[in-house]
Amino acid sequence: MFSSKYGKAIDTSENTNRGVGGLKIRRKMTRDQAHYSGLSGRADLHMHSTFSDGLGTIQQILHHVQYNTDLDVIALTDHNVVEGALRARDLWAKGRYRFDFIVGEEISTREGHMLALFIEKRIPPHLSIERSIDLVHEQGGLAIVDHPLNPLFRHSCQREVLDRIAESENVWLDGIETWNASFCGIYTNRLAMRINREVYGWPEVGNSDAHTTYAIGRGCTWFEGSTALDVRTRIESGECAPGGKLWRMHDYWRLASHRIQKRRKVRRERVA
Ligand SMILES: [Zn+2]
Ligand SMILES: [Zn+2]
Repeated sequence: MFSSKYGKAIDTSENTNRGVGGLKIRRKMTRDQAHYSGLSGRADLHMHSTFSDGLGTIQQILHHVQYNTDLDVIALTDHNVVEGALRARDLWAKGRYRFDFIVGEEISTREGHMLALFIEKRIPPHLSIERSIDLVHEQGGLAIVDHPLNPLFRHSCQREVLDRIAESENVWLDGIETWNASFCGIYTNRLAMRINREVYGWPEVGNSDAHTTYAIGRGCTWFEGSTALDVRTRIESGECAPGGKLWRMHDYWRLASHRIQKRRKVRRERVA
């Protein structure tokens, strides 16, 4: 039995998350299931631009989402910065885009990475996860732990941290990313889905964690509606579900070749 943010007791013996209630314990939601369940909105709430370690500029990302995806909502979540997302929102507001936009950040907490959505101010890295969650909530944002439970990735929150938050009286998570389309999720997506459905019952989201524009939308969150406010409402009520696929080989290849070129350039500059 754990406490939710409303002080309600959560009975962990049954899954209280309505969005994934009809799914098997290790399954994401397919497109057909999403449409059948009325969760026809598609959001990708985790991606990176050149403001951190992504390859796409904010202009390229907005253009790509508009013309090459069917996403209804995106969140830009660069590592430990919010400036790119704020600038992207300005560009988005001036353009005529058919999708909705959320300002976010992927915070490097001491215990692992965490997404902050619907924020306006940067949250500094290297704080405890509890303090980081508090700072997100002070701004009225949502705190979502991303790519958790990966035993090999040092930026992944582990079980004891999730247990600690779940048992806390004052700190709560608004959601958990149980589908991450990058290498971080290859083995652990199924583990995260199983443990969340058996133990925590937090609302589940799926995201691409795209570092290249072409990977945007590979992971997604299914929800009812089509706006950023709809996504927020559905996450808060647990009526959302993770979906999508993993990155393709060329997503890895683009990222790797970019990083190799960057390293060579730095080496050349040092020699010169
Ligand atoms: Zn991360
Ligand atoms: Zn990321």
